[in-house]
Amino acid sequence: MSVIEHKEFNGHEQVVYFNDEKTGLKAIIAIHNTNLGPALGGCRVWDYAHEDEALEDVLRLSRGMTYKAAISGLPLGGGKSVIIGDSKKIKTPELMQAMGRSVERLAGRYIIAEDVGTCVEDMLEIRKETKNVVGLPAIGDGKAGGDPSPLTALGTFEGIKAAVKHRLGKDSLNGIKVSVQGVGHVGAYLCRMLSEAGAELFITDINQEQLEQIKSETGATIVGLDEIYDLDVDVFAPCALGAIINDDTLDRLKVTIVAGSSNNQLKEDRHGQILKDRNVLYAPDYVINAGGLINVYYEQQAKISGKNGGTGEARVHIMSIADTLNEIFALSDKENIPTNVAADRIAEKRLQNINNVVDIDRKAC
Ligand code: NAD
Repeated sequence: MSVIEHKEFNGHEQVVYFNDEKTGLKAIIAIHNTNLGPALGGCRVWDYAHEDEALEDVLRLSRGMTYKAAISGLPLGGGKSVIIGDSKKIKTPELMQAMGRSVERLAGRYIIAEDVGTCVEDMLEIRKETKNVVGLPAIGDGKAGGDPSPLTALGTFEGIKAAVKHRLGKDSLNGIKVSVQGVGHVGAYLCRMLSEAGAELFITDINQEQLEQIKSETGATIVGLDEIYDLDVDVFAPCALGAIINDDTLDRLKVTIVAGSSNNQLKEDRHGQILKDRNVLYAPDYVINAGGLINVYYEQQAKISGKNGGTGEARVHIMSIADTLNEIFALSDKENIPTNVAADRIAEKRLQNINNVVDIDRKAC
């Protein structure tokens, strides 16, 4: 398959394949855009059926990171990496170190972090080979870093509150019914916050143990994996898989709001228009789930300056996700466009403004 002609290529700056015979590492690093800064994005370890699937995933995810950084007001570019294989079978310290050497070869153009299938311990192995890694354990009072999931959940929680206020006119989540698909790292923290705010929860996951744990903590009702799409609730919060808003699920959804942490929730962009036509308010995924990225940005800044701190600034920045969503909802209402299109417009405007500055600088040389 030609990479440059791939339907998801979308003007990527660089796509690099890495192969390490000794450790079995097979990885792709995609750098979509570095206009705003170095490309920062997580490393996903996934048992892709075929290399083409891995390529499509990394291209889509890295473009999403460009938009996520731009709309979140961060001086970062968009990139992502994937390692092909089942994380439970292939991950060894040596394999993660080989991934670290791959990142190092990109000389700071790509900064790696956690994603599905990787954790803080993996980042520590990567750190042995490169400084271009974030999501390391937080050391010292108030220092940003560590598992980004709690802060991704915080941003998602604030985003759900903004969506509920905009669509249902309610200042509180008390009594609001929320279905959560996936109670893993982000979903679990989100459920705890929602429960504390008085929301009524309906949860599903393939991991029974985790489901029981969250049920015991929050009093949530456990529902079937497929049943989640048919529930008559206010908010559907996808926190597991991508592409779950598609032609099959759309006809089943009875919710008023879709707002969750998963990346690439819309199978295709046109599904955003269908949600709008059905009067469902969609909080664009890369906006509402930016909390983890914002947190690792402050971790990186603290590292560069050699100072402690970062968590306070990260939390303040994450609270502004609600303002960004309100701007998107307002643009969507004013222009009568789907929220995913409104979000893209705002992100592209920011990238465009930077391009103009770069062009002026080039002319001056
Ligand atoms: P995770 O792997 O910890 O959790 C995902 C959960 O989904 C797991 O408990 C898994 O068992 C469950 N799951 C898998 N298949 C399922 C299915 N068919 N139905 C229901 N549940 C299923 O991942 P996470 O870190 O919590 O991330 C969740 C989502 O949020 C992912 O899409 C991720 O890309 C996105 N995200 C995460 C972060 C972060 O900080 N962790 C940041 C931004 C976006």
